[in-house]
Amino acid sequence: MKLTFLGATETVTGSKYLLETTGLRLLIDCGLFQGTKKLRLRNWASPPAELAGLDAVILTHAHIDHSGYLPALARSGYQGPIYCSAGSRDLCEILLLDSAKLQEEEAEFANRHGYSRHHPAMPLYTVEDAKQALKLLVPCPFDVNTTLGAGASFRLLPAGHILGAASVVIEAQSKTIAFSGDLGRSNDPIMFAPRQIESADYIVVESTYGDRLHDAADPAAQLAEIFAATFKRGGAVIIPSFAVGRAQSILHYIAQLKSSGRMANVPVYLDSPMAISVTDLYREHAQEHRLTPAQTAALDKAAEMVRTVEQSKWVMSRRGPMVVIAGSGMATGGRVLHHLKAFAPDARNTIVLVGYQAEGTRGGALEAHQPSIKIHGEYVPVRAAVESLTTLSSHADYRELLDWLGSLKRAPKRVFVTHGEPAAADALRRRIAETLHWQAEVPTYLESVEF
Ligand code: ZN
Repeated sequence: MKLTFLGATETVTGSKYLLETTGLRLLIDCGLFQGTKKLRLRNWASPPAELAGLDAVILTHAHIDHSGYLPALARSGYQGPIYCSAGSRDLCEILLLDSAKLQEEEAEFANRHGYSRHHPAMPLYTVEDAKQALKLLVPCPFDVNTTLGAGASFRLLPAGHILGAASVVIEAQSKTIAFSGDLGRSNDPIMFAPRQIESADYIVVESTYGDRLHDAADPAAQLAEIFAATFKRGGAVIIPSFAVGRAQSILHYIAQLKSSGRMANVPVYLDSPMAISVTDLYREHAQEHRLTPAQTAALDKAAEMVRTVEQSKWVMSRRGPMVVIAGSGMATGGRVLHHLKAFAPDARNTIVLVGYQAEGTRGGALEAHQPSIKIHGEYVPVRAAVESLTTLSSHADYRELLDWLGSLKRAPKRVFVTHGEPAAADALRRRIAETLHWQAEVPTYLESVEF
């Protein structure tokens, strides 16, 4: 059996693992590289030979860094099944179409403004490619074995990270290989804790926060404090947010703060058609999260939903106390770019970062308090306050990762630490050795291991 790491090595993006067993070529996750130019260029290299002749793709969850290369795979001719949970299927319908639209828009914008070095700038894939990929999605229930052929099977276990997120456990050639996927928190107010696995011979574990512990502070109280301070200055709060998970968590806290009178009754705008659609899915997949029907309904009332570009422009022209939640979460694209252009130069405003900010993204630059960020080819000064709330993370911290691994009844034969910046992955590797006394490895890009 051979496992090749085609992404999520030395980075949190581009998750792709090729597992070759007798008679089967499986791809676990098919993510887009995001962040630094060096990483993004990997999306553009013609599909690696490793992606040819796949029998099946298994998706851990719908985030673009795990699913966003699927349209490119479909474009290259893949027509086999893409197995995922029902929640991931529904989310992919929203996220992949949006990703394709962004690719098309960015290419179009670059051509119109002539700032691309490529003439004409081409999208990585189109909406049509995304639609082809969506046709290949095969929803599978959690905790049920699905056969893959050649004596192999897999099952999905809830991973608590976002709606539909799963860990994948594959049985093949009398071996068990587990992929953690992105693991959620043990005490998230919305998602259930990740399911622990009983046994595996080989484990691929994420390490996004392999070197960090999350702040134990109450995110509602932190938000209340930031809101109060900003509104006192007459400023607006801009929250770049992932459409999935983070946006709903923020709405949930805002609903709580407003109903308990801990937040001024200022306008709140959810300027993300995608986040609005995702919020609707929380009703349809009610069994997957902790919110009561009343709490789910409160998400809708917590903000004014901004759907059209005209409404978005109107919000941008407003000033003064208000909250704007807009995608994307690491400010790599989407409507938040226009809001950052409009609000970042004014010191009265606050930009609140609520999730992981990868190196090389505008979110990463904001988190590092860079004096300016580049948007659409021009430098925008950042005079607004920038706050990071790590308490809102949808990723387990290293203690939670170690607890999840430690639930195994016996030590695995090998552990591969992926999906982390180099320092985080190495820190988790060391902690696994110190705490669990297992020898873990941090694979490099395109490395193959046989077992
Ligand atoms: Zn994720």
